Amino acid sequence: MSKVKPTRDFAKIEEEFLLEKLVLTTKASGLIDWLKRRSQVNSLWTFPFGTSCCALEFMSLSGETQSAGELGADLTRHSPERSDLLVVGGTITEKQAPILKSVYEKMEGPKWVIAMGACAASGGPYNTYSVVQGVSSIIPVDVYIPGCPPSAEAVIAGFHLMKERILKGAQRGVLPETIEKGL
Ligand code: SF4
Repeated sequence: MSKVKPTRDFAKIEEEFLLEKLVLTTKASGLIDWLKRRSQVNSLWTFPFGTSCCALEFMSLSGETQSAGELGADLTRHSPERSDLLVVGGTITEKQAPILKSVYEKMEGPKWVIAMGACAASGGPYNTYSVVQGVSSIIPVDVYIPGCPPSAEAVIAGFHLMKERILKGAQRGVLPETIEKGL
């Protein structure tokens, strides 16, 4: 008696199902990047590039009332190689621009940038030849925090936005988000 041939190749169907529904494929580099982002969100190592009043406002984040620790960002590093997040707070002069660029270039990726305050975002009140009219002309900016100086609440909201963008994997430098004014 001849064997009845199955009309459907179930082994093939199962294989296709596994590939389509159950198996997640990725590149090793993609997986490492995702793991790095996950760890960055919970423990951001910040390089504070503070030059003037906004830098003092940033320092207040390490106070008792507005703790950067709650944001998972209480570790500040003054070594670019060990930092994930560059916070530019204050007026950046043309002479400081190459230094800022070199700090950014020394940071390992994935790396992120917050422009804190009006001076970092646009030169602020200093519309003059010696002041950089926005650090985005030197390095890519991921999040802008408005204000002169920004309130503590605005800085905290900016950090939350930064973490959200890291998790989403938002493309840096493209349509940077600005948190709402009035915070
Ligand atoms: S934005 Fe205002 S507070 Fe911040 S550095 Fe500029 S002048 Fe100072």
